[in-house]
Amino acid sequence: MDAQKTVLIVEDEKNIVDILRFNLQREGYATLEAYDGADGLEKARTGNPDLILLDVMLPKMIGFDVCKTLRAEGNHVPVIILTAREEEADKVLGLEIGADDYITKPFSMRELIARVGANIRRTAMSAAAAAVSAESAMPVAGDLSINTDSHQVYCAGQSVDLTQREYELLTFLASHPNKVYSRVVLMEQVWNYGYIGDDVRTVDVTVRRLREKIETDPAKPIYILTRRGVGYYFAI
Ligand code: CA
Repeated sequence: MDAQKTVLIVEDEKNIVDILRFNLQREGYATLEAYDGADGLEKARTGNPDLILLDVMLPKMIGFDVCKTLRAEGNHVPVIILTAREEEADKVLGLEIGADDYITKPFSMRELIARVGANIRRTAMSAAAAAVSAESAMPVAGDLSINTDSHQVYCAGQSVDLTQREYELLTFLASHPNKVYSRVVLMEQVWNYGYIGDDVRTVDVTVRRLREKIETDPAKPIYILTRRGVGYYFAI
């Protein structure tokens, strides 16, 4: 790690904050802590963190609202939601929250540290990629086009609102058309996950979300297709 990165922990259970702080600092991160949503929002604005670990159930303001508020203010800091419920994955990864990732409690510290590292690297990489990209709206297939400068995706001339995660998966698959990738490989290559836990479902959720946004009939997709038992590919 070149410059020291700062992680903001927003969590009201002190013992969880303590163990997160201890482990993150041992990995070389600086930490900021907030014990309620309002203070978390304030520290996110003023502390310039490189990543936020955000609990959902918090006093004063719930985690979802903290994340939504930051995004509405144009703040794109990576946010990992700490959720107690796997069923919340859809909500967490969906547009309505604007989070980048989630991890379910109880989490393994090893996996959490891996996620923190992956999300910080991913943000650095996409910033670098955006800086060197000189392409403007490139037609991809059918009615779909991607502007890699502005990170905008257009479907039949209409701008499609994608999360960062959805955009990255789409551009990765579209730049290797007709090649089938397994979920594990997509986790590693698109999102730079060095350690794979049980969360390959993240890929399925992201594919489903993408289909809802770019396919005319998400039940009969024409862009992102499933090769049963193998993985996903972008068809042209
Ligand atoms: Ca809580």
